[in-house]
Amino acid sequence: MPHMGYTGCPLDRADHIRRDPDALALARIHGQSRWLVLDNLKPLLTPAGDDLYWARREETGEGPAVFLGLDREGRPCFAIDCAADGLPGRLVDARAAGMRLGDGRAGIVAEARSLLDWHRRHRFCANCGAPTDMAKGGWSRHCNACGADHFPRVDPVVIMLAVRGDHALVGRQHGFPAGFFSALAGFVEPGESLEEAVVRELREEAGLACHSVRYVSSQPWPFPSSLMIGAIAEAESHELQIDGTELEEARWVSRPECAQALAGSGSWSAPPPLAIAHHLLRHWAEGR
Ligand SMILES: [Zn+2]
Repeated sequence: MPHMGYTGCPLDRADHIRRDPDALALARIHGQSRWLVLDNLKPLLTPAGDDLYWARREETGEGPAVFLGLDREGRPCFAIDCAADGLPGRLVDARAAGMRLGDGRAGIVAEARSLLDWHRRHRFCANCGAPTDMAKGGWSRHCNACGADHFPRVDPVVIMLAVRGDHALVGRQHGFPAGFFSALAGFVEPGESLEEAVVRELREEAGLACHSVRYVSSQPWPFPSSLMIGAIAEAESHELQIDGTELEEARWVSRPECAQALAGSGSWSAPPPLAIAHHLLRHWAEGR
């Protein structure tokens, strides 16, 4: 079973250290602390590009830094938003890092990228407009003007297969590579449950009436901070009414067709293991 991208982050997030300014200060000057540089949100990998490049504090430039947690040896790990000038290693975008590091190390990239990106885009108080300060090792921002605390965003997205009998629905958005199909997806809106979001998206995008939504699995997707929630729903018919602004095409595929596409030998191409859609399709194709 291939690993699902960005899951399985091996760090202990150590909330007790985040909440304790003295412990956090000690972690920062810990002789074995490890620092992951993100230069313009691109993580620094080793020169061979097959592992994260963990720098020592004195090796990195200056910039906002967040506490990621403790590794298995108990070493404090940080991510820092600064230029990678002078460091050996290779900058790659976080998608490429997810592909290259096909295990929990990509989860560290997801944590670091989402958090540093949030700080970049949330420097001012959403309540009163004053500048805010990073707090709790990067897990909140505090406004000294009005006292408000702000927390990192996680944006839920439902991604789903409508199924009916032995067929599942896949679709392609405008701009997908030729022959590429995936599960349908959309943001959860305020005031709806995950089940309601699944039913609404399938109705809006494909004109399908669906019910009996069941959860399959979820995945952090750090572009910038989505949580992909994979689900399967039962469709009441095979009749489609495609919303042409959302989708270019949608089609029903059988389990064997789906298994072939996942293996790279089908008449259409499926998403790679980096994406939860791959695992959702595999889950269904294997009859689960
Ligand atoms: Zn404020």
